[in-house]
Amino acid sequence: MKSNTSKAGENELKQQKESKNNGGSYAESSHASQGFRDLFEDELKDIYWAEKALTKAIPKMVKNVTTPELAQALEDHLEVTKGHVDRLEEAFHMLGKAARAKKCQAMDGLIKEAEEIMDETPKGLVRDAGIISAGQKVEHYEIATYGTLCAFAKTLGEDSVASLLQQTLNEEKEADEKLTEISESFVNLEASQA
Ligand code: FE
Ligand code: FE
Ligand code: ZN
Repeated sequence: MKSNTSKAGENELKQQKESKNNGGSYAESSHASQGFRDLFEDELKDIYWAEKALTKAIPKMVKNVTTPELAQALEDHLEVTKGHVDRLEEAFHMLGKAARAKKCQAMDGLIKEAEEIMDETPKGLVRDAGIISAGQKVEHYEIATYGTLCAFAKTLGEDSVASLLQQTLNEEKEADEKLTEISESFVNLEASQA
């Protein structure tokens, strides 16, 4: 009885090995990144999770802001971010894949850090300066991610996907520059005198 079971187990293992050598079924049978295209698609799922998380996190940041110009910049970027979610869905569609999110550990941490900054600062210009710092960390993560995704897409010959992602990359850079402009024009100085 026991030897029968282990014999059956051996056969199963042998079959698995054979099917792994059998071309396409290898990638389809696992969720892990096994090749460059899988890595690209996994990173798309990661930023898809991140962008969706931001559509919930940005409104909380807006509520904590005192400077109208900063509140406006964040509200504008919330709308832009919703467009990033749509673009990613379009990218998945172009790749013939279902749009699926995979938790982005980094964005989860960046959002938690933003919440911590808001909890630990008094409402006013100091908190505004902190919110700008948290926002810029988010933008830099996104800039790094979309830069990589554009390069990966080009390498894979997915030029239409690359140009779609390039549009988002440009908008993340604009958001980052806007935050720099607000902090350097008056928020940091006024926060230092508050
Ligand atoms: Fe974005
Ligand atoms: Fe990530
Ligand atoms: Zn952004």
